[in-house]
Amino acid sequence: MSKRDYYEILGVAKGASDDDIKKAYRKLAIKYHPDKNPDDKAAEEKFKEAAEAYEVLSNAEKRQRYDQFGHAGVGGAAGGGGFGGGMNMEDIFSHFGDIFGGHFGGGGFGGGRSSGGRRVMRGSNLRIKVKLNLQEIAKGVEKKLKVNKFVSCNTCHGSGAKNGQVDTCKQCNGSGTQVKVQQTFLGAMQTQTTCSACNGEGKVVKDKCNTCHGDGIVRAEEVISVNIPAGVAEGMQLSVSGKGNAAPRGGINGDLLVLIEEEEHELLKRDGGNLFYDCYINFVDAALGTSVEIPTVDGKVKIKVDAGTQSGKVLRLKNKGLPDVNSYGHGDLLVNINIWTPQNLSSEEKKILEGLRQSKNFTPNPNRKEKGFFDRMKEYFE
Ligand SMILES: [Zn+2]
Ligand SMILES: [Zn+2]
Repeated sequence: MSKRDYYEILGVAKGASDDDIKKAYRKLAIKYHPDKNPDDKAAEEKFKEAAEAYEVLSNAEKRQRYDQFGHAGVGGAAGGGGFGGGMNMEDIFSHFGDIFGGHFGGGGFGGGRSSGGRRVMRGSNLRIKVKLNLQEIAKGVEKKLKVNKFVSCNTCHGSGAKNGQVDTCKQCNGSGTQVKVQQTFLGAMQTQTTCSACNGEGKVVKDKCNTCHGDGIVRAEEVISVNIPAGVAEGMQLSVSGKGNAAPRGGINGDLLVLIEEEEHELLKRDGGNLFYDCYINFVDAALGTSVEIPTVDGKVKIKVDAGTQSGKVLRLKNKGLPDVNSYGHGDLLVNINIWTPQNLSSEEKKILEGLRQSKNFTPNPNRKEKGFFDRMKEYFE
């Protein structure tokens, strides 16, 4: 679903002043307010849409990014809340002090639609890069990663309280929210706001733990074991649930995000699940036939090169490539045969070759039956 232009949503020109933007939003917020349009899904969408547009255009930095890059420039800009799916009502109403403050005596204008309940803190995600060689990618590997992160405080067991004593917030009775009923020109309105005494957590710590100063978390180094499946590739990101930063006062841990980097192999090149190897043989071996050793991800294998093999012949070693990360089989190892032309010949060698130069069998045949470069490429990419 493509998003509408934020200026269009608010009905203002692209160069509109901050004041014009504020006025336009205020008008729409009143028009589409949920309390004025009960059970009207379309109005609610319009209300959210306007709030999202205002969130971006009222912030100089976000507005500049939006002007430059459009919606892509501000995607995910609203922090942890997630922006793409629209803002939640609590976020929207939190603006209203700012928007309607002057008119409503700072009382916050809002509708009690937010889900309510205590605010549970979530630790932030942790990102780490890990470099793998081709063997590790082929087999999968368990990596022990040393990370510096927030962990639960041992002294207070994450509570943040000196003696472990955490009280239920008296102002909100532990609900984390406060409800006010207010008379406005739209009629009586219920306002639900985050409890200011406990910041919505529903509990308060009287004596703070000395180790963590009441946060319930401290910085520490931790070794985390991560199982990396076979077949991963550069740029993939694995998410290890709950192994990121711990949250203040016993909330939910963030995730550990592992970004895969690939070490280049000196002989084998990779394209998806397939591997490529450039094999060089001398032209006598090519003419008479030989066997050569080929490196693979699990050691060397010997392959036979038939007599009369042309340069550019590709030998396909089935299933000797990399496994698919989703277990959809294996790639192949493609061996490109190159004929090595000698460059430093002795006079004796030259004499032998001169004797062969005129031989009919040594004359290239452009109408040979073997596939040419173009056909091989086409075959590969089909
Ligand atoms: Zn502590
Ligand atoms: Zn409270």
